[in-house]
Amino acid sequence: MTCPIIDGWYELYALGALEASEGARIDAHLLAGCPVCHREVEQARRLVAQLACLSPPAAPAGRLRLRLAARVAALSRGAHGSVN
Ligand SMILES: [Zn+2]
Repeated sequence: MTCPIIDGWYELYALGALEASEGARIDAHLLAGCPVCHREVEQARRLVAQLACLSPPAAPAGRLRLRLAARVAALSRGAHGSVN
């Protein structure tokens, strides 16, 4: 069984790769309680999580590494806001 409202968009939705308006449209559809889309989105989320585990580890280089370290330090101090 498929749902014509979101069919074909589940993986992109699970990745957070949709335009904000498209994501909001899917959010609204899920909040309306479509059981087909709830099941499909859950499967897509599991798939996305498995893909993340399959990708090789990567080390950020140079400036990105410094920005990430600063952001992690800020978060560990409980600070909120951007670190530039
Ligand atoms: Zn649906």
